Amino acid sequence: MADYEKYKNKERKTNHMNISISGTGYVGLIQGVGLAKLGNKVICIDIDNEKVQKINRKEAPIYEKGLSALLKQTVGKNLKATTNLKKAILSTNITFVCVGTPSMVYGRIKLHEMERICHDVGEILKEKKTKHVVVIKSTVLPGTTESTVIPNLENASGKKFGKDFGVVMNPEFLREGSALEDFFHPDRIVLGSSDPRSIAAVKQIYSKFKCPIIETKFKEAEMIKYAANSMLATKISFINEVGNICKRMGIDTNTVARGIGLDYRIGPQFLVSGIGFGGSCFPKDVLALVHKSLELGYHPRILRAVLDVNKDQPLRFLDLVEESLGGLKGKRIAILGLTFKAGTDDVRESASLSIIKEFIMQQAKLYIYDPMGMPPVKTLFPHLNYMKNAQEAVDQSEIVCILTEWPEFKALNYGTKMVIDGKNIFDSDRRPQNYQGICW
Ligand code: NAD
Repeated sequence: MADYEKYKNKERKTNHMNISISGTGYVGLIQGVGLAKLGNKVICIDIDNEKVQKINRKEAPIYEKGLSALLKQTVGKNLKATTNLKKAILSTNITFVCVGTPSMVYGRIKLHEMERICHDVGEILKEKKTKHVVVIKSTVLPGTTESTVIPNLENASGKKFGKDFGVVMNPEFLREGSALEDFFHPDRIVLGSSDPRSIAAVKQIYSKFKCPIIETKFKEAEMIKYAANSMLATKISFINEVGNICKRMGIDTNTVARGIGLDYRIGPQFLVSGIGFGGSCFPKDVLALVHKSLELGYHPRILRAVLDVNKDQPLRFLDLVEESLGGLKGKRIAILGLTFKAGTDDVRESASLSIIKEFIMQQAKLYIYDPMGMPPVKTLFPHLNYMKNAQEAVDQSEIVCILTEWPEFKALNYGTKMVIDGKNIFDSDRRPQNYQGICW
């Protein structure tokens, strides 16, 4: 019996697996904690020693609902973190790769972290006697697993994909803010590979999940991720465009959104208008797909328009604030919200930050509050005024900007201050006295 088959049978009997996760950021840590909670033995690997130490102390290095509690339950039992890739790979049978794939200025994605990890894992596989499966969770453009991941693993290991080791593309669909909920209750799981035995090994890990598992080719799995994010981003820019038209006509965009969202072909999700999408995924992934299709000689008109509408929404917000104040210089402005959405401490590509930069350029005085996002922003802008709580920021200012949909912002005393809402947080009958929505 092949090593690989023995391994599969052994795992089936013990009903848990030995899994390593390389890259313990937002995706890798949730995957690691989730798989540990399901009973697997998990080793999380990262090059950031501080992050590793924190995890081993059962402290969450990022904010995500439920994460601290799950770390307390699993670390020291069946979850640990390390910087030692070699030990982790040699003592596990499956490695999830969750390193970052950030974008360059014009949208091409940077693959240096992916190339490095595949090379390093390959070097270790050289010594490994048993078969290993590498599962790519990072978002990479169609073709990357075959053009970059597999060649790097093969060159460094001197072994052959399909025969000596397996590879699966398993795109991640979690939403920050409800990432654990999404881990335990996914809508679907996509497994792409040209090697059925690799897919079978990974399928076993997900055997407790009730959702459909879609088996695809590598490129299809990669494209599903980009197409899904492009669709969601399109819905957001669509409702923002509808909102920009509605506002000019005195029509309530939220009523229109409800009216169209109840059509089951459309659905209500992602039909909330506001300052546009941010975060580490939508802007980067749509731009990467635009860039890729231009390289292939196709001009993607819808996706470019999605990005154009999104780029303009923060500018509309700034115009509204400037009009309300009659200029920005020296004006006292409360900034409520820094993270790109509620429920996370992630400020990557947050529209709030681009708005803040413009306010700083215009010499406004800012009073800033966010329940989770202040530590990373303090390192970028150390000299700004960070408030102890949201009410204090409101009280110091002459106008209030709501830039993240944290629920606590609904319950503040705004008095007669002008509130400009970029996140559509209030029900229409509970809005502050002096209120403007960006596109409703
Ligand atoms: P992240 O920056 O939070 O985490 C990446 C981690 O990889 C970091 O901790 C970094 O130190 C580590 N790392 C880099 N090189 C390494 C190496 N050689 N060995 C070990 N660790 C290494 O990124 P993220 O938000 O978790 O995203 C990871 C990938 O998943 C990206 O491709 C992203 O597009 C995709 N994705 C992200 C989300 C999300 O909501 N954040 C959702 C779906 C998909």
